[in-house]
This record gives sequence, structure tokens and C-alpha cells, in this order.
Amino acid sequence: MYQAHDSGKQQWPQGWAQWRHDVVPSEAVDGPLAAHFRARQIKALVRMLPLVTAGNAVNVMGISWVFWGRLPHLILALWCFAVVLSLPVAAVWWRRLIRKAPRPVATRGAARLIVAQVVFFAVLWSVLPAMVFPDADHAGSLLIAAVVVGTICGGAFLLSPMVPVAWAFVLTLSVASIVGLARSGVADNHTLLALLVVYAVIMCAVSYASGKVFVSRLRAEAETDRQKQLIDLLLRDFEEHASDWLWEVSPTGHLRHVSGRLSESFGLPAKQLLQQSFTELLALMVPPDDDEATEALNRLTTCLRMGQPFRDLEIPVEVAHEIHWWSLSAKPLFDDKGRAAGWRGVGSDITHTRQARDELARLANYDALTGLANRHRFSTELERLKAAPDAEPRPCALLFLDLDNFKHINDSLGHSVGDQLLRRVGGRLKTILAEGDLLARLGGDEFALLTWRYTSPKKSGALAERLLNLLSEPIQLDDVLVEVRASIGVALAPRDGRDPQSLLQCADLALYAAKAAGRNTFRFFDIGLADSARARVRLQNELGQALAAEQFQLYFQPQMHLDSGEVIGFEALVRWQHSERGLIGPGEFIPVAEETGQIVPLGNWVLREACLAAAKWPEALRVAVNLSAVQFRSSAVLDLVDEALYISGLAPERLELEITESALIEDHDGAQATLMALRARGVRVAMDDFGTGYSSLAYLRRFPLDKLKIDGMFVRSLDSDQDAQAVVTAIITLAQALRLDITAEGVETAEQLVMLRALGCGDVQGFLISRPMPAQEVAAYLERTNMSLA
Ligand code: C2E
Ligand code: CA
Ligand code: CA
Repeated sequence: MYQAHDSGKQQWPQGWAQWRHDVVPSEAVDGPLAAHFRARQIKALVRMLPLVTAGNAVNVMGISWVFWGRLPHLILALWCFAVVLSLPVAAVWWRRLIRKAPRPVATRGAARLIVAQVVFFAVLWSVLPAMVFPDADHAGSLLIAAVVVGTICGGAFLLSPMVPVAWAFVLTLSVASIVGLARSGVADNHTLLALLVVYAVIMCAVSYASGKVFVSRLRAEAETDRQKQLIDLLLRDFEEHASDWLWEVSPTGHLRHVSGRLSESFGLPAKQLLQQSFTELLALMVPPDDDEATEALNRLTTCLRMGQPFRDLEIPVEVAHEIHWWSLSAKPLFDDKGRAAGWRGVGSDITHTRQARDELARLANYDALTGLANRHRFSTELERLKAAPDAEPRPCALLFLDLDNFKHINDSLGHSVGDQLLRRVGGRLKTILAEGDLLARLGGDEFALLTWRYTSPKKSGALAERLLNLLSEPIQLDDVLVEVRASIGVALAPRDGRDPQSLLQCADLALYAAKAAGRNTFRFFDIGLADSARARVRLQNELGQALAAEQFQLYFQPQMHLDSGEVIGFEALVRWQHSERGLIGPGEFIPVAEETGQIVPLGNWVLREACLAAAKWPEALRVAVNLSAVQFRSSAVLDLVDEALYISGLAPERLELEITESALIEDHDGAQATLMALRARGVRVAMDDFGTGYSSLAYLRRFPLDKLKIDGMFVRSLDSDQDAQAVVTAIITLAQALRLDITAEGVETAEQLVMLRALGCGDVQGFLISRPMPAQEVAAYLERTNMSLA
């Protein structure tokens, strides 16, 4: 508010302006407050007026007593009247000059008017020293001198709140006195004159000093007022901000000035808050056995003890059986002598922020469907392997678990059942977690378990076994009972890998091996897996060129009618004549070709070659060709069949396509349409590997088929396993009921043949009859069998 003026080169005007500013409020310096200051000054004068009036009345009485008879009565009376009355008039008038805006104000004109009126009043008094004094007798002049000196003195003091007014009064009276003194013949009036001048100057200085104090007090008050308003404003704003509270502790650590907000936040009455130290209170409130709380409390205690300021220290507290999070900030206080005087700070309830933050962290780290950790969290946890690059990594086991039949369940029962299944599987797996273990869903039906407990091959193997057992129990979802199976790959650190990346790869390869081993089992990683993975990659690359290089060959395995012993046809089985590795079986490269899509051109080649070969056989013989699910689902399949038949000239009835159940399950309607179209052409369709998949009666009824092929797995254990017998019996009965042909595959022994005949099986295929043979050997074989069978 109050501006400092630089005291510069222009000494006089600058200095004068400074003087003036010190005692005269002005808009330039005080802004709008100047008007208020003026009003306060006028009020100060008005307040003194009764006293002045009384003093004047006494003086006037004295004067008129002494001079009654020496001066004309009328003039004396008028003078007395004017002097005494002018003061109450001034009081009323001056009060009127103050306007009551929100707070009292007065204009600059009002101040000037008061100067003028005071000059007038001084002139009234000046009559005494200037006119009466020179002719007065000894007693009279003494009285006048005393009264005038007293009046100057009193005026200088009483009018000092408005320095110009005080000066005008003092100077007018002083000048009048000098004039009177000059006119009188008082002896040695030079000395008196000098005294009078000095006296007037001193009075002016005195009134200046006191006026300056008055004005600076006004200014100081205004500044304090302004600051108070500002603080009030800030505090109110702060208080309205619902979650914050101020706190202050004494050097002994006890709370001071406990506000309503503070006691509300603590959930304790103010009296109780004052009894214990701040840290004791918090220690009672933090939830027990909470590491974060203990750590925060320790930090707080340390900061308080060491006198270190702190910011945003987050601490959990229990208020009314609910956990709240507070954020505390504070600074130490010091007294005038620099001694510690306690602490002052702010506390805010950040429970909501904290919850939001936790929720965000949860979302970033957890899988929404199962509530298990997600891939991100899993990777972060796995990174701990890398913690100390030089140190020996902490042993751990990584288990990758993949559901074998999830895709089928998801496709056939719908995604909501699929989701439910994943949730239930997650729930089951969770039940065997040891402390510190991390179970995550990495996506789809893929789960991972990272354990720091079961780290030996023996223990982790047992763990994998337990996981498989856990899942083997059927799961009831809505109104279906689902059997879920899984494959597990296990990798151990540091044995198999020392860093997260290689460990992941190892577990992945082990999982692949478990799947390849027939699923529903687990495999450890071993170095051979890495080799075969590399081999697989190489195979993929070589497969691409194999077709163009004409490296594929078809072998044919005869199918025989069991009763008559006649060959009824051959199944075409593809082989790869590899330039370095020799003959490779389809079991090795077909799955790779299916993965990469290379099965489509390869399958077409097989179809065409098989038809071309069969066209040369006796007309009664059929050729069976295996179709992968990928091929069967492609829209071109019908065209390709037509083309193969057309090129070879083979009658459609002599072509039998072998498909597996997986070809049918994903796209019911499309599959059905394709089957119908094939049947319409007269092409036969056989269901391959029957009994190993998801065989259901519903499929068999729905899809128009010609034949079931009993998987070799059942045939092989026919003579040893009762269950296998039951399955084969059931399949044969089913086929008969549905009027489907039936072929038993993989017949290797005479005992199996006998049993199959007894069970009523129609056709057989297997090493017992013949191994698959190259196309050029078929003719000779036929000749031999016809001869031998004939
Ligand atoms: P698959 O369709 O079940 O074919 C029968 C498999 O059993 C053949 O194996 C055959 O050699 C073998 N086998 C036949 N009799 C016996 C026996 O008495 N004992 C034993 N242990 N095995 C016997 P291969 O040729 O290795 O073919 C394996 C699988 O590869 C086939 O199983 C079939 O699913 C697939 N495959 C073969 N050729 C093709 C093809 O051209 N296209 C497609 N998509 N898949 C093919
Ligand atoms: Ca087959
Ligand atoms: Ca088969």
C-alpha cells in the first residue's frame, strides 16, 4: 500500500513530497484508502472538539472578565459568542463532511475546507494578540500572552492528526502575535519576537511528528486489515476444501489449537486429542501389521525428531473402523530466539485419491476376468530374476499351463460359458498357491505360475501333477458339465535359463512338448526341446520349397473287408523325401504345415495325386484321402475336389475323404453344407480317428457321413484293456444303428483281428494287413493278395 519513494537527485521537491506524503493521505500513495484516512483524521479532530470547546469557554470567560469595560461591550460579546459557538458549529459541519460509504470517507475538498475554517477560527483568536495586546495594561497583556501561548500549544497538539490544519492554526496565531508584539512597546521585543518564531517552529515540528505517527498508524492498521482479510479468505477457502485440516504441535509433540475439523478427522473429542502426543495418537490409529503404515510412522517420527520438514507423507489410519489415507505435510516452527517451537502443518484425507490410484494399479496389473495377475504384472515379477546381474539368480520354477480343449468349449458352448470356465479354472489353480507365488493369466486360455518355493525338478513336477489333478474334476457351468484338460510346460531357473526371456522360451517349448505328447500332461524343458524347436523352424522354411522340388510322395495302405478278405481300397498317406534326412513321416510335418497354412497347397497336391493313382486301379477300389480341418473349411474345397476328379477321371464314388471331428465343430452350418455338397456329387466321407475327439451322438446324427474309422489307439489295446473293448463295441453298435460303414485302424495282431471280427467290425486296416506302400507297389500287392486270397 504505502509506496517507498526513492530519494533521488531532485532533493528538494522529492524531499518535500516525501514529507507531505508522510502526513497527508493522498490518492497517489494510498489509493482509495486516502479518503478513508481523511475521514479518520477528521473524526480524530471532531473527537477533541468538546475538550477544545470547554478550554475555549474558560479562556473566553477569563478574557471577558478582565477586559469587560475596557472594550466596547457589543464587540466583546460578539467576539466571545463567535469564538465559543464556532466550535460546536464546526463539530456538526465536520461530521457532515464524513460520508458513510461502506466505511467512512472524506474528500480532499473536505480537508481543505477544514483548513479554511481553522484559519478563520485562528483569525478570530488573532484579534487578541494583534489588536488588543498592544493597548492592554500589564495584567491584560500578561493574560493575553498566556492565553495565546496556551492556545497555540493546545492547537498544535489537538489538531496534529491533520498536520496542514495544525500548521495553519499555529502559523496564523503566531503571525498575529508577531504583529501584535511589533505594534506594542514592550521592552526588548526583539528577544520576544525571536522566541515567538522559535516557539512557532517547534510547535509546527511537534505537530508534524505527532501527525506523522497518526497517519502511519492509520496506514499500518489498513495493511494489517488487508492481510487479515487475505488470510481469512485463504483460510475460509482452505476450510471449505472438505478434506483438509490444519494441525500444530507444541515442542513436546502435543497438538495445539484443535479445530473442529481436526477432531472430526481423528474421530476423537478435542479433549482426548490434547492428552497424547501427535505420534502416539497416530501410532494408536494406524492399522496393525501394515508394513506401509509402520514405515510411514517411522518416517514421521524421525522427521519430527530431527526437525526436518516433510511433504505429502502418506499414512493409513483407522477412523471409526474404516481405513483412511492421510497425507501430512509440516514445517518446524521457531521462536524469536531461534529455538524449536513445535510444528505446524496440513493434513488431508486422500482416501479417494489413494483408492483411485490403487484401482488404476490393479487394472494395470490384474486380469479383469479372473482377478489373477495379468501379463504385465507377470513380466514385472519375472524381471526380479534380473535383479542382480552378477549374483546367482534366485531359483524359481515357471509353469505354463494351456487348456487343451478350451477352443472347442468356447466355440460350442458360447463365449460366456468360456469366460465362466476361465474364471473357475483360475479359481481352482489359485487354491494351491504358496506365499510369494504368482499366478497369472497371460491371455486366452494360457496361465502361468511363477513359484519361488517349488524350485527343484521333483517339487515342481509334483506341483504340475497337482495342477492337472485339480483340473481333472469336471466343472459345472450353467447347466453343462465340462471336462477340462490342460498341458503344462515347466522351466526351472537357473538351470534352464537365467534371464526372464530365455526362461519364458523354455517354458513355452516345454508346453509345446506336453501338447505334442498327447496333451493332459506336463513336460520339463530339456535341451532336446530347444533342438527340436530349431528343427521345427528349419522344417517350416524347407516345407516351402519341398512342394516345388517335388519332394513329396504318396504311400498307400490297403483297407480290407474283414469277412471276405478282399481289398476294398487304399488310404493315401503322404511322405516327405527330404534331401538330407531321408523319408519323413507326416506326423512330423503335417502339424507344422497346418500351423503355417502350407497344408492347403500340399493337401491339393495329395488329393490330385491320389485320384490320379486310383484311376489306374481296378474299378472296385476306392481311395481314401485325409483332409485337414483347415482344408475342409476353406471355401475352395469343393472346386478342388471337382478338379481332382475331373483331371483324373475318377468316379466320385471311388473317392473317400477322411476328416476329423475338429473339422466339423467350429462352423456347423458351413461344415454341413460342404458335406451335403460332397454327398450330392457321390463323394464319400469318413470320420477319422473316431473316439479320440469330442465324439458326440449329436454330430453323427446331424452330419451326413458314410464311415467311422475306429482310432488305432483303441484297437491296439483291445486285447489288454476292457475299457477299449467297451469303446470299440459301442462305436460298432453306434455305426450299425446309424447305418455307417466301419473301419478299424492300426490292426497289428491276429488277436485283434479275431476280436474285431467277433465284435462285428466291417473293414480293417493296419500293419497286419500291410504297411503303407509306394504307389508303384500297389499293382504288385494287388496281384499278390488276389492270388493269395483267391
Ligand atoms: P491317420 O489318418 O490315422 O493314418 C493312419 C496312420 O497310422 C498312418 O501313419 C499309418 O502309417 C499308421 N498305421 C497304419 N497301420 C498301422 C498299424 O498297424 N500300427 C501303427 N502303429 N500305425 C499304423 P502316417 O502315415 O505316419 O500318418 C500319420 C497321420 O498323418 C495320419 O493319421 C493322418 O492324420 C496324417 N496324414 C497322412 N497323410 C496325410 C495327408 O495327405 N493329408 C493330411 N491332411 N494328413 C495326412
Ligand atoms: Ca486317415
Ligand atoms: Ca486315423
